[in-house]
Amino acid sequence: MGLSDIRTKIADAAREAGRDAGEVSLIAVSKKQPDARVEAVLEEGHRIFGENRVQEAAAKWPGFRERFEGIELHIIGPLQTNKVRQAMELAQAIHSVDRPKLARTIARIAQEEGHCPDLFVQVNTGEEEQKAGVLPDDADGFIEECRELDLPVKGLMCIPPVDEEPSLHFALLAKIAARNGLKGLSMGMSGDFERAIALGATHVRVGSAIFGERPAEG
Ligand SMILES: *Cc1c(COP(=O)(O)O)cnc(C)c1O
Repeated sequence: MGLSDIRTKIADAAREAGRDAGEVSLIAVSKKQPDARVEAVLEEGHRIFGENRVQEAAAKWPGFRERFEGIELHIIGPLQTNKVRQAMELAQAIHSVDRPKLARTIARIAQEEGHCPDLFVQVNTGEEEQKAGVLPDDADGFIEECRELDLPVKGLMCIPPVDEEPSLHFALLAKIAARNGLKGLSMGMSGDFERAIALGATHVRVGSAIFGERPAEG
């Protein structure tokens, strides 16, 4: 596939859902991708990228930022509290806010620094033990806690279980967002972004369908 194919599919999916394609941000997930592939996508004019590890983002993006204007970086992976300051320096959005301690750390650093990235609360819609995110039953309370800390929560994020129909999870996320008055929905990856758009995604996180398969680790 590639960037322009994905853009076309996003536009088609939005039209089919009676939505404006401009409502859907494409986050190109560049984790583990060779720099040359990332650079090619930058050369094509794309500027919104996602990384799931702060350390990798810190190694990769300052260099690209020297050469390309207007890069917007989204941290989409689990965030340790000792990486929060670095994440907030690097990124314009964090999609993995999922526990009170993390929320309080972000709030404290935001106070000190006078700015805060856009935040998404990650919801573990599949209630999977190994997965990050607040449980659906705890989401309303946690969102309220974030608001009491004056955090700029823009929406919710989920990663559906691999072996289940993702649409059920997207619909659940949309429902939790709606009852909390949140507009942002970060959902949909290479295999399911069209279904996510049908159910209201405002941010799709697409990696391998743009860049190709990630090289094996090692
Ligand atoms: C890797 C990753 C993606 C992108 O996955 P692809 O299947 O390559 O599109 C999206 N979201 C998160 C949180 C990821 O870690």
